[in-house]
Amino acid sequence: EVRVRFAPSPTGPLHIGGVRTALYNYLFAKKHQGTFILRIEDTDQSRYVPGAEEYIKESLDWLGITPEESPWNPGAFGPYRQSERKPDYMQYALDLVEKGHAYYAFDTAEELEAMRERLTAARVVQPQYNSITRTQMNNSLTLSEEEVKARLDSGEPYVIRVKIPRKEEVRLNDLIRGWVMVHSSTLDDKVLMKSDGMPTYHLANIVDDHLMKITHVIRGEEWLPSAPLHVLLYKFFGWEETMPEFAHLPLLLKPDGNGKLSKRDGDRLGFPVFPIDWNNQGTGETAIGFREQGYLPEALLNFLAFLGWNPGDERELFTKEELVEAFSIDRIGKAGAKFDVAKAKWYNEHYLRSKPVEELQQFVLEDAQKEGFEVSKEKAAAMVRLTKDRVTFPAELWQESKFLIIAPTDFDDQVASKKWNEEAVKVLTHYAETLASFLGDFDAESAKTLLGESAEAVEVKLGKVMQAVRLAVTGAGAGPDLMEIFAILGPKEVANRIRYALN
Ligand code: GLU
Repeated sequence: EVRVRFAPSPTGPLHIGGVRTALYNYLFAKKHQGTFILRIEDTDQSRYVPGAEEYIKESLDWLGITPEESPWNPGAFGPYRQSERKPDYMQYALDLVEKGHAYYAFDTAEELEAMRERLTAARVVQPQYNSITRTQMNNSLTLSEEEVKARLDSGEPYVIRVKIPRKEEVRLNDLIRGWVMVHSSTLDDKVLMKSDGMPTYHLANIVDDHLMKITHVIRGEEWLPSAPLHVLLYKFFGWEETMPEFAHLPLLLKPDGNGKLSKRDGDRLGFPVFPIDWNNQGTGETAIGFREQGYLPEALLNFLAFLGWNPGDERELFTKEELVEAFSIDRIGKAGAKFDVAKAKWYNEHYLRSKPVEELQQFVLEDAQKEGFEVSKEKAAAMVRLTKDRVTFPAELWQESKFLIIAPTDFDDQVASKKWNEEAVKVLTHYAETLASFLGDFDAESAKTLLGESAEAVEVKLGKVMQAVRLAVTGAGAGPDLMEIFAILGPKEVANRIRYALN
């Protein structure tokens, strides 16, 4: 049975890359009738941000990719927060010590710093605590057994480090990258257990993936350098048989393809899904999210799916169910994926347009109310029909059509200076009079016929004054279909607006 996990650390807003990782895990699980698990990796208590967990939960729920097992909906493999699993990790670290794959280290911060300085002075490019340097440090490989025991008994602080073999080729067959081979001499003796009794990411991650019976680790490429250590840990524990398969997802690149998508770019694009009152990176700006910008979950989901994956044909529009059907790790690329905001907007426009009017009119009703206007449902529906093919975000439905509710008092000067002339005034005066006394059925068709008749009556070519007519009634020089606008406003209101503009 396929079991995959999304394992975020609650250290701040969920990065959009994290959301993509969650989505790919979800799609892979669903595709194989497997289970999608969420595990909170909160072993680094100093970086814990209150609210971050709730935020992760809301983000995934909003996108419709809720995990089957999580801290909020535990399954049989709990707890789903590493801080709550804390008592269990030590025995695993000690097991490795016993097997000779890990050791106690008592070095103080000063001693570690001195080692780094020594190595830097000797022009070692990457000073590391490793198979060579460990021989000069205070650890259970260099100290006598009695000494180690004495230090432990006296309560001296210690960490437990993994003992990386000096000469070994570590291989892993990544489902996306293929064979990755690393020589163990490039790896360092990473800390597995910290002096505060908390495991590091590496230990907790491997132990939990094992205990939670994770079959596939799908995560961002930034974790690829850690993978060889993870492979060694599986081997040291004797868990090679059940070691999960790895799939490291391609990087997300800046919109122009130049370099990695940074938190700053993400910030500007609004990578969190929800507004949260934490400031990003101490910049003092509060991050606004995709949701607040007006992205629809369907659009964001579809957009994210294509950041690194493609179906192998021309199709671009996929519902969640269709994505599950089409998804496969084989079709995830190695190359970085450009974060193309224009594409995200394109998806949003598509999904917005395909929503029924009754659903969209809700946005107009709410936005109108926020500004203190009472709008009828029919009017809101008409406003939606008028604007939905012209906008990207739901908030624009009201923004672009509120002139129907609020008669203009300001008129675009630029247009006025060019188009507001004697001929326009003649046509408008005639048209306003006609409309004021008009009693028949008024629709876009009749609005147009009457306007044509007014132009004819005062012997002016209609084409020459159309922009002025629009200006008089809407205040702007451009906008949705003018005759549809007249039909919504009705003859009296159009007449009133023209008279106001004429004065
Ligand atoms: N806690 C890690 C993170 O924040 C998880 C990495 C992994 O999936 O192994 O991304």
